[in-house]
Parts: sequence; C-alpha cells; structure tokens
Amino acid sequence: MSIPKHIRYLVVGAGVHGLSTAYHLATVLKSRGTGSGLDIVVLDKSSVGAGASGIACGVIRNNYFQTAMRKLMVHSVEVWESDPDTYNYHSVGYIQAAPDVMQADVASIFRQQNEIGYSSVLIEGEKECSRYMQNIFSDWQARNISVVLHEKRGGYANNLPSMHALAAKAEGEGVKILTGVYVTGFRKHAASNAIETVVTDQGDINCEYVVISVGPWIRNIWQMLELPKHIKVRNSDGTVHDGVPMWAFWSLQEGTLGVNPAMQKTNDGSFPPVIHVDTDAPLYSVLSGKLLADGLWGIYYKPDFNFGGIQGGAVPQKISTDADEVKIDPYGPHSPDYIVDESFSEMWVSALAHCQKRFEGTYPKYKKEPSGGIGAFTPDSFPVFDVFCDNCYIIADSNHGYKMIGVGKLVADEIAGKKQGLLEPFRFSRYAQGSLHPVSNSPYPWS
Ligand SMILES: Cc1cc2nc3c(=O)[nH]c(=O)nc-3n(C[C@H](O)[C@H](O)[C@H](O)COP(=O)(O)OP(=O)(O)OC[C@H]3O[C@@H](n4cnc5c(N)ncnc54)[C@H](O)[C@@H]3O)c2cc1C
Repeated sequence: MSIPKHIRYLVVGAGVHGLSTAYHLATVLKSRGTGSGLDIVVLDKSSVGAGASGIACGVIRNNYFQTAMRKLMVHSVEVWESDPDTYNYHSVGYIQAAPDVMQADVASIFRQQNEIGYSSVLIEGEKECSRYMQNIFSDWQARNISVVLHEKRGGYANNLPSMHALAAKAEGEGVKILTGVYVTGFRKHAASNAIETVVTDQGDINCEYVVISVGPWIRNIWQMLELPKHIKVRNSDGTVHDGVPMWAFWSLQEGTLGVNPAMQKTNDGSFPPVIHVDTDAPLYSVLSGKLLADGLWGIYYKPDFNFGGIQGGAVPQKISTDADEVKIDPYGPHSPDYIVDESFSEMWVSALAHCQKRFEGTYPKYKKEPSGGIGAFTPDSFPVFDVFCDNCYIIADSNHGYKMIGVGKLVADEIAGKKQGLLEPFRFSRYAQGSLHPVSNSPYPWS
C-alpha cells in the first residue's frame, strides 16, 4: 500500500469520530465547491473500528444532566435517524429508572428535554414507577425506584457494522482509508506552531490540516504533540487545582448473557427500550445469596442480536495506575489487564435478576468470553473538542462518544470555517476559565 506524500486533510483514527469527520468534511467541501473526499486521507494503525467504536455497547441516549451534552446528543440522534438502516440503528428508546437520591436530577433532565422538544415521559413515585415498568415488562421487580424517565428516541446501534457503514459512506465520497499505518510523530513548520508533517511507520505525509480522533490512544498523541501532562483546573466556585493529570483511564465493565435476545420482548411482543437502572436497594448474589451492594449501584442492558444475547454493563472502574503506565495495547477483549472478571458477571446477572424475574436462574448462560475495554477520561470526564497547534483538531470524547456520531459533522463545519455553538462548551480553555459542566448524583463518571 502506498501512502501519499501530501494531502490537504489527514485524519488519524478510523473510529466513529474520524470516519464521521472524514465523511462530512467530504460532503461540505463538495457542496461548497472547495474540494472533495479526494482531499482527505484517514489513517488507522489497525483497521476500521479497531478501537472503542468497534466494541462499544452501542447505546444512544439523550439522558444527560448537563445541558451542553443534552443539546449535543439531540444533534447526534438526528444523524443516527437520518440513515437508520445503513447505520444499523435501532430506534427503540431508552429508559432510566432511578432512586430517591437521583429524582431531582432526573426530573430536571425531563423538564429540559421538554424545553428542547426531545420526546420523553417522566414517572414519579415508587408505586407509579412499578406500574409503568410492569406495563412494559410484566416481571419487573426492581426496588427503590422512585423516578423513571422514558426517552422515546435513541436506542442503540450495532458497533462494528455501523463503523463499516460510515467508512463506506466516506469512501463513496472519494476519501481514502489507509489501515495498518501507525502515526509515530509530528513535525512542525519552522516558523510557526502548526503541523507540517505527520510521521508514520510507512513514511512522512505533509498536510495542511490534521484531525486527531484516536479514542483511548489520545494519551500517546498528546505526548507526541508535547501538550501538558498536567493542567490547572479552576472549579466553578473559583478554587484552583494545579497539577491535575490531563488523562485518566477507566475500565468499562460489559458482558453478554447468552440467551435468545427475544426473551426480553415487552408485554406487547415488541423489542424493548434500552434499560438503565440505578438503585440503592440491597443487591444479593444469585450465586451465593451474599450481599453484593448496599449503596448506589447501576446497570444497563438490551437484547442485541449482534452480541448474541442480552448485552450490557455496570459502573466502570477507575484504573489507579498513572496514565503513562497504562498499557492500551492489546486493546479491548485482547487486553491481558483490562477485561471483566467474575465479580462483574456475578454482580451484573444478579442485578438483571433483581430487575426482572425472567433473568432468575440464567447465570450459567453468561458468556465467559473476554469483554470490556478502557477509555481515556479528561479531568472533568467531559469531551474536549478543540484546535491545538494552529491546524490540529483534537476530538477527545472522554469515552462518551459512540453515540456522538454527529460530532464529526460539526467538526467538519468548523474545519470549513463555521464555528459551531454546540461545540463551544467543550473547549480546552474551560479548565483554566472554570467553565466546567455541572455534576450529577449518578454513580457514573459520564452522566
Ligand atoms: C466497552 C466500551 C463500551 C462502550 N459503550 C458505549 C456506548 O454504549 N455508547 C457510547 O456512546 N459510547 C460507548 N463507549 C465509548 C465509545 O466507544 C468511545 O467514546 C468512542 O467509540 C471513541 O471513538 P473514537 O473515534 O474517538 O476512537 P476509537 O473508536 O477508539 O478509534 C480510534 C482509532 O485510532 C486508531 N489509532 C490509535 N492510535 C493510532 C496511531 N498512533 N496511528 C494510527 N491510528 C491510531 C486505533 O486503531 C482506532 O481504530 C464505550 C466504550 C467502551 C470501551
């Protein structure tokens, strides 16, 4: 395979963000008559969807406590809805069921969804929530649920098929995707901070503009660009924390119960919304009966033919190792260090059985294959979408991002010269300025 000596736009990473940016940039250039997909090359060290996008659970929701995230998700859901068959998108909706401690947060999400016209239903009160859920699943039995938010849009998409669909759309516009090409460094212009050359294991490529969309590998590229390992973070109350690590890794806990996905059909025989439950009811093991959790815990799940069963996950675990020491490769299920262990399967299947009676006795069906993967998180666990080194757009989604297929569309518009208000709250300068996103009572780092 030959790599070009020069290209106008070089995108590093063939996951959701790199592919979406390349495809949308090609269409923007074409519509303006200022170029086409032939001006764009995407490089990936492995293959299309080899990173987090290819192993993601694939859940697409609007359920965010932060206004800026919610608005961004409306835009992304519109992109999923624009071509659902090609994107392998299942618009089944999304339900969050939560306990007292989260009731006010969830109700405020509902109010704000209403204001922006995002269709959802709010149920409050324990009895009312049970009744609502039992109308969907007659065997619903989760306890301490005092609020339910049912989003009518969103749902999930099939991870790898959707990435191949995006790649085909980009290639259809003339974009070249070169796999098996490893970016190892950057050279700047003699007279400015801008990148002139991207160095790869197959030779140098001169370019006018670079897009970095490397998911969990952002730590490596950040180092290559000589960006700061530690930063100053000003909290909303004005206090300043110096020396905060720019990157921290979390290990995503996910797995599959190898049953017929159709067993999770609703009372009326349709495929159900994605279910996300947070509760503080005691959780007991389906294996030993011992108490597994007596504080806040949470799980999410959906029937998924792509995974071959009921697939989902639980609250991720923070990796305490210094970010520089975390081994990202081999990635995902191939990692010797960061796959889920039996404590996950015991907790997750026990939690499924806590929520719905149909899952009682199903533990032996849990697929004992490696699963899970790691994500690189920013200091406030929200994305950074910004230009660095004058001509380098970094898309670092802090592991929120499979659902964010629309970000590449917005980035393409910004590259073409039109600033996008939806991306403004995600600039790097927010850490120095103290313009952080509000924090919710959810047990997850990304809610
Ligand atoms: C287990 C798991 C489940 C998840 N579930 C969901 C979910 O349900 N919903 C959701 O919205 N998000 C989910 N996420 C988060 C989401 O998957 C990521 O935020 C998103 O996919 C990141 O996309 P990306 O394009 O930035 O990076 P990636 O998809 O990771 O792609 C990066 C690409 O860059 C390439 N690359 C890296 N370094 C180099 C280099 N030096 N040279 C060349 N190529 C390079 C890699 O090979 C890779 O293909 C999940 C994440 C994990 C790990």
